[in-house]
Amino acid sequence: MLNVTSDTPSIRSIAIIGSGLAGLTAGILLGRKGHHVRVFEKSRGPGGRMSSKRVSGSSADIGAQYFTVRHPEFLAFLKAYAGADNFAPWQGRFGFQGDDKQWQAFPEETRYVGVPRMTAITRALSEHVPVTAQVRIAKLERVGEQWRLICTEGNDHGSYDQVIITAPPAQARDLLEASGLNELAGGLGHSEDSILACWAVAAHFEEAPSDDFDAMRPDSDVLYWVANNSSKPERNDQGQWWVLHATPEWTQAHVEEPAEKVSEQLLAAFYELTGYQGAATDAVAHRWLYARSVQQEQPGYLLEPGLGVGLAGDWLNGGRVEGAWESATRLVEALG
Ligand SMILES: Cc1cc2nc3c(=O)[nH]c(=O)nc-3n(C[C@H](O)[C@H](O)[C@H](O)COP(=O)(O)OP(=O)(O)OC[C@H]3O[C@@H](n4cnc5c(N)ncnc54)[C@H](O)[C@@H]3O)c2cc1C
Repeated sequence: MLNVTSDTPSIRSIAIIGSGLAGLTAGILLGRKGHHVRVFEKSRGPGGRMSSKRVSGSSADIGAQYFTVRHPEFLAFLKAYAGADNFAPWQGRFGFQGDDKQWQAFPEETRYVGVPRMTAITRALSEHVPVTAQVRIAKLERVGEQWRLICTEGNDHGSYDQVIITAPPAQARDLLEASGLNELAGGLGHSEDSILACWAVAAHFEEAPSDDFDAMRPDSDVLYWVANNSSKPERNDQGQWWVLHATPEWTQAHVEEPAEKVSEQLLAAFYELTGYQGAATDAVAHRWLYARSVQQEQPGYLLEPGLGVGLAGDWLNGGRVEGAWESATRLVEALG
């Protein structure tokens, strides 16, 4: 039990922008230190790119497919705050196709997923920190020693001693520029170009369209990744839901295309890949404008201590689920 009161001088009010894994991690760790924390999220619920889409009779993980754990502290954090029941290893058969078109198995590694869907993890984490959803923060205004948060509707969402931004780089940059924090925005360099877009399609099949692998990285100009979402633990689907991700290059070339056309084209590539003769009974497409980070520089996090503004997120630390957690953890340590 923390023995702190709001009179304790080191106790601060901290706003966190974004409720993906980085934002929720920062919120939980700062709350544990006794700070007054509030997370703001522009979408309807928490999760960010660890997202699942509702599909008829089920849900499908259309963002992060799985995550690995290199730091035992990450696993300990998830067990403590997401709960051991909300994630589990995915015992799927994973294959990739080399340049010679031959298939090989992925290296042995434990790959975790949320159960019964990826968002189970961030939903559970969000119970430990207050989250205000459906509020897009447009700018920060300096008021004395604090930052006032203003949303796109022009409403005032309170004043805070410190602000942590966990939005992807292009969105973080817009926010910093709108707040007059041009130096910090300039420090992001061209990082807004370093998260690639991705078209994702969730498709339903009455029967298994492929028996070789549960998840595949094909050598394809169109498909980057295909996976049998129903092979993940505790899905209990009727038939099978598959998730198809387009390559960054294909996505970029078709970024403005209507979702139905994208579904048709990704499915055609999938049928060619698997030799499946049937047809999907349902398909929904989702466009990620910011999906995978290919950022070269990896400072871990960014912090302007004099201003009390920090940035965390996967794109500052390896571009993956565990990287988002580590980035937030390191920023919280640096904030003291
Ligand atoms: C298609 C795809 C496949 C992937 N596959 C894998 C994988 O297999 N393994 C893996 O480890 N990683 C994978 N990733 C990457 C992984 O999802 C991310 O690394 C991780 O989820 C990033 O977490 P984050 O908190 O840094 O950012 P996000 O999850 O992007 O969170 C940022 C949040 O900020 C919110 N936000 C932005 N601007 C504002 C604003 N102005 N006001 C309020 N809220 C705002 C956003 O809505 C979002 O919820 C994948 C990602 C995608 C999209």
